[in-house]
Amino acid sequence: MNVTSTRGEAKQIPALQAVLEGIADDGGLFVPTAFPRLDTDALRRDSEKGYPEVAARILAQFFEIDHATLRSLTAEAYAAFDVPEIVPLRNLGGGAHVMELFHGPTLAFKDMALQVLPRLMSLALEKYGGREDALVLTATSGDTGKAALEGFRDVPRTSVFVFYPLDGVAEMQRLQMTTQRGANVGVCAVKGNFDDAQTGVKQLFMDKDFNARIRRAGRFLSSANSINIGRLVPQIAYYCHSYARLVAAGEISCGDGVDFVVPTGNFGNILAGHYAREMGLPVRKLVCASNSNNVLTDFFNRGEYDARREFFKTMSPSMDILVSSNLERLLYEICDRDCAVVRKWMGALAEKGCYDIPAAARERLAEGFYADFCPDAETAAAIRKTFEEKKYLMDPHTAVAMAVYEKYRARVGDAAPAVIVSTASPYKFTPDVWRALTGETVADAFEAAARLSAFTGTAIPPGIGELRELPEIHGAATEKDDLGGAVMNFLAGS
Ligand SMILES: *Cc1c(COP(=O)(O)O)cnc(C)c1O
Repeated sequence: MNVTSTRGEAKQIPALQAVLEGIADDGGLFVPTAFPRLDTDALRRDSEKGYPEVAARILAQFFEIDHATLRSLTAEAYAAFDVPEIVPLRNLGGGAHVMELFHGPTLAFKDMALQVLPRLMSLALEKYGGREDALVLTATSGDTGKAALEGFRDVPRTSVFVFYPLDGVAEMQRLQMTTQRGANVGVCAVKGNFDDAQTGVKQLFMDKDFNARIRRAGRFLSSANSINIGRLVPQIAYYCHSYARLVAAGEISCGDGVDFVVPTGNFGNILAGHYAREMGLPVRKLVCASNSNNVLTDFFNRGEYDARREFFKTMSPSMDILVSSNLERLLYEICDRDCAVVRKWMGALAEKGCYDIPAAARERLAEGFYADFCPDAETAAAIRKTFEEKKYLMDPHTAVAMAVYEKYRARVGDAAPAVIVSTASPYKFTPDVWRALTGETVADAFEAAARLSAFTGTAIPPGIGELRELPEIHGAATEKDDLGGAVMNFLAGS
C-alpha cells in the first residue's frame, strides 16, 4: 500500500520505500492512505500457529512483499526470543493480563519491531535503493538505541549510529550500548536530555547541507526511531495476537471489547494499538499511562499540548519525553486528515512549545483513549504490591501502566478484561526495582541484580550478566548542537 505524509506536501510512496526514508520530505510522518481490514478468522488461525504467522500477515497488509518471504522474515526476526510463545500473556486474575513484550535480545519491547525493521530495510534497499548505503540515525531514551544496534549490526549496506542522553539512561541501558560489538555501529552520548537528542536528529534529517555531505560519503540517512513506518507496523501484530490468545483461552468471546494499558513515551506503542483498532480489532479503551512527564495526560484531558514544563528524570527513563513524535499521526486522524491543520499545530509546537485542539476533537479522542499518570512513589508501590500479592515482578515502565490501570479501574468501576502492556525486563533497572521491593539502596546495578534474583527466584537474563565482562568501546560524548560533527567523525573512522 501507499503511504502519505501527515503534512500533505510530500508525494505518496509505497510503504516499503518509506522504510528507507524514515521521515517525509516535508517534515511530516508517513501514514497509511487507508487502513486495511483485519480478517479475524485468519487471525485466529494464525495465532494458533504462533506469533510469526500473525506478524507476517499484518506486514503483508502494508508492504508489497510475498507471503513466503515475510513468513521467513518473521521466523528469523523472532528466533532469538527466549520464550517459545514470543509474546507471553500472564493472567493476574480479576480480568487483568500482562502482555510481555521484552523477551527479545535486548530485553525491551523495542525488539518486537527492531528485529523486523533491518530485514525490511534490506528488502527496500534491493527494490528502491540507489547506489548509496543506509546510515540509520537514532535518538534513544534508553531502549531503542540498543535494539537498533543489535538489529542492524553487520546488516549489509547499512550502518547505525545512536545518540543517547548522557545521565538520562539506566546503567544497564548505557552498558548495553557502550559495549555493542559490530563493524557498522556507533554510539555517542549527548550532553542534554532525550528531547535534545531527538530534536537534534530530526534537524539533521532536515538539514540539506548535512544530507549532501552524507551523500558524498556514499550514504543516505534513514531512521530507526518510531517515526519510521517500518517500526509501527510490526507493533500492530502483538495487539492482534494477544486478543486472539484471550479468545482461544476462553477469557473473552470474539468481538468483546478489551482495554489495553500502555506505558507511553513517544506514543509509538499505543499508536500501533490504535491502528489495530482502526483495522477492526475490538479494542475498547487505550489507556495512555505516563510518568511525571505527564504532557500526554494533560493533552488528552484538557485538549492542550504544552511541552513548556519542567522535565523530570524518573525511574522509567524510556518514558522521560516531553515531545511525543508519534502523536502527530493521531492528530492527523482526529482532524479528518486535514494536513493544513496538522501543519498549524506542529508549527505552533515548534515555535511556541504548545498548541490546543478544539473541544469536539478532544471529545472524540476521549471515546477511544483514557489518560493518567503516576509519580515515582506510586510506580515503586505498584512494583512492591504486585510482587507481594501476585508474585509477579515488573519493571518500572510496566509498573507505571499497572498503577494507572488500578486508578482507571477504581474510577471507571468495571472489570472488563484488560491487557497491561509490559515493555521491559526488570533486570534492566535493578537498583530501582530493588529499592521498590525492599526499601534498600544498592548503587551497583550488578549487585542489585544478584539480590533481585535471589529474593524473587527469577533468573538474571544472560544479556545482562555478560555486560559485566564486556569492554566498553563507545565512549564518545557531544554537545547537543553538534550531533552532525559526531556523525561525520563516525563516518571518517568507519
Ligand atoms: C520505548 C519504551 C516505552 C515507551 O514507548 P513509546 O512507543 O515511545 O511510547 C515504554 N517502556 C519502555 C521500556 C520503552 O523502552
